[in-house]
Amino acid sequence: MITGKNYIGNQLSNSGTITYKTFNPELNQENETIFTEATSDEINNAVNLASEAFKTYKTISGKKKAEFLNAIADEILALDDELIKTYCSESGLPEGRAKGERGRTVFQLRSFADLVSEGSWVDATIDTAIPDREPLPKSDIRKLNIPLGPVVVFGASNFPLAYSTAGGDTAAALAAGCPVIVKSHPMHAGTGELIASAIIKAAEKTGMPNGVFSNLNSSGIEVGQQLVSHPKVKAVGFTGSIRGGRALLDLAAKREEPIPVFAEMGSINPVIMLPKALKNRADNLTTIYANSITLGTGQFCTNPGLILGLKGESLTNFINSLGHKIVEINPSCMLHPNIIGAYENNKAKAVSQQGITIVANYAKEVQANYASQIVTTVEGKTFLENPTLHQEVFGPYSIVVQCENKEQLEEIISSLEGQLTGTVIADENEAANYPTVIAALQNRVGRIIFNGVPTGVEVCPSMVHGGPYPASTDSRFTAVGVNSIKRWVRPFSYQDWPNNLLPDELKNENPLQILRSVNNAFTKEQITH
Ligand code: NAP
Repeated sequence: MITGKNYIGNQLSNSGTITYKTFNPELNQENETIFTEATSDEINNAVNLASEAFKTYKTISGKKKAEFLNAIADEILALDDELIKTYCSESGLPEGRAKGERGRTVFQLRSFADLVSEGSWVDATIDTAIPDREPLPKSDIRKLNIPLGPVVVFGASNFPLAYSTAGGDTAAALAAGCPVIVKSHPMHAGTGELIASAIIKAAEKTGMPNGVFSNLNSSGIEVGQQLVSHPKVKAVGFTGSIRGGRALLDLAAKREEPIPVFAEMGSINPVIMLPKALKNRADNLTTIYANSITLGTGQFCTNPGLILGLKGESLTNFINSLGHKIVEINPSCMLHPNIIGAYENNKAKAVSQQGITIVANYAKEVQANYASQIVTTVEGKTFLENPTLHQEVFGPYSIVVQCENKEQLEEIISSLEGQLTGTVIADENEAANYPTVIAALQNRVGRIIFNGVPTGVEVCPSMVHGGPYPASTDSRFTAVGVNSIKRWVRPFSYQDWPNNLLPDELKNENPLQILRSVNNAFTKEQITH
């Protein structure tokens, strides 16, 4: 049952007076539950509990953490229909999407469980002593990754499960050994509370310390600001807008002890359509791209918001055909009146820029909170000169830029802000003729896609979901896949430390049987000397 209360560790609490409700965009009405925003005291209690919990949680074995993560996955599945119904009522997203996202969330939790249960992720690195080295003896030095401390997680409106309460950031931080305090997203507070209840049940069943997880309600930015400013918080995970992520990055940098903020933010995901491909399969490409632009009502951080091509007949045909196809697609619901309001404003701002031509604009009347899709086009020179056109319009919007030549295409790509993805559509080895364009694209993005669409982010160890700023605040890390655990740890060395006092990961006997680097060679062997 959804109570509208905060979880301060294992306790439900609602001592505050600020209340709010979530909104059903399909029905265009508020949902019933009243949520109470966390007070300053509750925030403080949650962080203090997390800080206490860290003392024991950081020492818990990988196998025990895996039990906890798997139990969270089980408890999420046990929420069954109540979770799916709440998700749909708070997001306007269809049941199929809810179930798919739940499957992804559970898969992520289980992937981290496997990772920490196996144990080699800590990057154990051992350089044994050389006592008789000349002119000075060499010490025994052993390194592994250790958790940072309490982590605050902010989820995005468009992924109520997979990038939210028990989403990738939370799963990765808990796997690393960091307690988590979630700043609940106000648009899906009920979904968030249900998931929080699953995490708390799992924590209790598997004997995790109280405070390993808290879930704080908020209807504005103050709760998040207080959390990020709290001296006992050691890192922040954020998924959302550039404005929000940047504000939190700046806040964290201003603290007496600055802390890392791993923010995954907006992106327009440039797609380069090369001429032969456009000529040979325009029809197929327009279908694929009309669907990708409107998928999930365009509410994906990997939505293809920018298409680049070389001016000519093939590109003109593609633009016209994309225009026809996209208006044949039925509009769908956006997440919230605020999101559709922002979409309408950003779209109006984009189309009012000089030199913009509207190719297709869904003109029929749509129901409340439904978004009309739109495609625009512009000359390369105009696009280059106007940074407003480079900004994300979050929703079913895409702009096609008609470049004069290869050089201008390269210049445009180089002028873009950092992006999550870049896509190249090419035929018959034509990509090989564009090495500088592709090199420029690689310089701007975290993932490069060949003959596909950017929407759809596979969860696997080789995935990079991140990119140069502002796609993310630290392009050295991914937010998706098990390697995202590296955001929540720091490397730590022991020098000449007694074997029996070392963590198991670094002991001579290698009791956990993990893969380690010993004197520059990867091995599971024990050290005998
Ligand atoms: P958002 O408005 O930035 O909100 C995200 C969360 O941050 C909310 O809980 C919000 O709280 C909080 N927040 C925002 N500004 C804040 C501030 N100045 N101080 C403290 N807290 C603040 O984003 P959204 O609407 O949820 O998500 C849509 C955006 O996310 C799109 O731009 C999309 O491209 C991006 N996104 C990126 C990824 C990715 O992986 N890169 C994935 C999904 C979505 P309040 O709502 O209470 O203000």
